Amino acid sequence: MEPLSPWQTGFRGRCPRCGEGRLYSGFLKVADGCGYCGLKYGFENAGDGAVPFLILIIGGIGVGLGAWVMLAFATAVWVPILIAVPVVSALTLILLPKTKGLLIALQYVNQASDTGTDSYNEF
Ligand SMILES: [Zn+2]
Repeated sequence: MEPLSPWQTGFRGRCPRCGEGRLYSGFLKVADGCGYCGLKYGFENAGDGAVPFLILIIGGIGVGLGAWVMLAFATAVWVPILIAVPVVSALTLILLPKTKGLLIALQYVNQASDTGTDSYNEF
């Protein structure tokens, strides 16, 4: 069976094998396993791996937005900060679980592990 796209599974917070069960039991807490197909998420090792991506992407958006607002409208320094901080915060809260889920799904699809292949016997 062709594996499901990590964008269709992990990015949506769903099980990387079936795309149905929930990936998280909390905001960023990975569940023990899929409630639909029974896949155990013990292989998951994404940790904080999503954070560097988001720092670079959202940080660039925040700084770019702030600089554009300040230069285009000749505002005081506090105005772009007032605009960029909520935008950066919202984007981080929205994209962090999605990006972490994407990394977990990519790890599953590519069977990537730093603990050898033993943890993939459950696949
Ligand atoms: Zn599943």
